[in-house]
Amino acid sequence: MDEIKIYKEVRLSKSCIGPEEKAAVLKVLDHEFLGMGAEVNQFEKRLEFFFSRPAVCVNTGTAAIHLALQALGIGDGDEVLVQALTYVATFQAIAATGAKPIACDIDKENFCIDLNDAARKFSSRTKAIIPVHYAGGVGDLEGIYKFARERNIRIVEDAAHAFGTSYKNKRIGSFGDIACFSFDGIKNITSGEGGCVITDDQDVLKKIQDSRLLGVENDTDKRFQGKRSWEFDVHHQGWRYHMSNLMAAIGIAQLEKFKKAALDRQTLAKRYVINLSQCPKLRCLPLDYDSVVPHIFVIQNLSKIARSDIIKQLSLKKIQLGVHYFPNHKLSYFKDSNLEPLLATDAMYKTLITLPLHPDLSLEDVDYVSSQLIDVLQ
Ligand SMILES: *Cc1c(COP(=O)(O)O)cnc(C)c1O
Repeated sequence: MDEIKIYKEVRLSKSCIGPEEKAAVLKVLDHEFLGMGAEVNQFEKRLEFFFSRPAVCVNTGTAAIHLALQALGIGDGDEVLVQALTYVATFQAIAATGAKPIACDIDKENFCIDLNDAARKFSSRTKAIIPVHYAGGVGDLEGIYKFARERNIRIVEDAAHAFGTSYKNKRIGSFGDIACFSFDGIKNITSGEGGCVITDDQDVLKKIQDSRLLGVENDTDKRFQGKRSWEFDVHHQGWRYHMSNLMAAIGIAQLEKFKKAALDRQTLAKRYVINLSQCPKLRCLPLDYDSVVPHIFVIQNLSKIARSDIIKQLSLKKIQLGVHYFPNHKLSYFKDSNLEPLLATDAMYKTLITLPLHPDLSLEDVDYVSSQLIDVLQ
């Protein structure tokens, strides 16, 4: 009987946590000040240094997008253009303001928003466009900015996949209108859960600083000085969306290690590309992993084998695969976001498979996944 090689479980994604994060969390626990204070202030300063622009931290990436849109005055009766192929977080964040997400098709090459379709769906109600930096790539970001400028609408980048990615030698978030990042457990950096908004727009920054703390005016400044607001005013709808010191402590430790984590992600992605480029039964996204720091590694299945079978086969080899994403215009709650078929999205999403990618994988793991995948596709 052949000897069966048992390989360890290869996880699709995971939080990558070391002694630094654990020590940082313990320190906050020892201080017994878990809410929003010194660590959050420190994390925002570090992020401001990283992006060369101000940062406001919140408790999720979804909250970051929600508050950014609210700060722009977007709400009932307004429309926001967004690609259908994104996490439902983007759609829910738009809907949370009262505005309507308008589902747009994707570019078949890079899976970012199709501007021709966006142009068709633009109307007098359109107030913003949200480009989603799918898998860490940003597509024709310059074209998207031109599109928005010509139509006098705002841009809120959903950069949840693109922490660390550069475009034309400039870091995403360091330029442009507004960029929203996620620090959920499996993103390029994590704070447990969390997110941030990066922008130069002082009015937007001020509004989000208040709206993350139930709209309590200037509460951010007070908390960063270790004080509380006992008598205050509220000018607009607020939410309980602030970041805690516990989360920020994890985020600071992760940011300090980011250079290595980013390089690890890029190195693993490049290895996948080399391993898989000879296989005619699949296609990798055309991303440049010197400038892109990939959050996920997505391939298209070009074989006749059903995606569900591929996922099942590889799970028998202890390899977890994923699907990013089931398109939002097919969800019951968002079926009104689009009335005609989205040809590229509808055709493409069925082919998408996400391979394991996180900094705790080795090149050997990537080789194992690649060879097992090629085997199944033959
Ligand atoms: C993760 C993610 C978000 C939301 O971030 P959370 O921190 O999970 O709320 C938004 N958009 C995309 C594309 C994401 O992957």
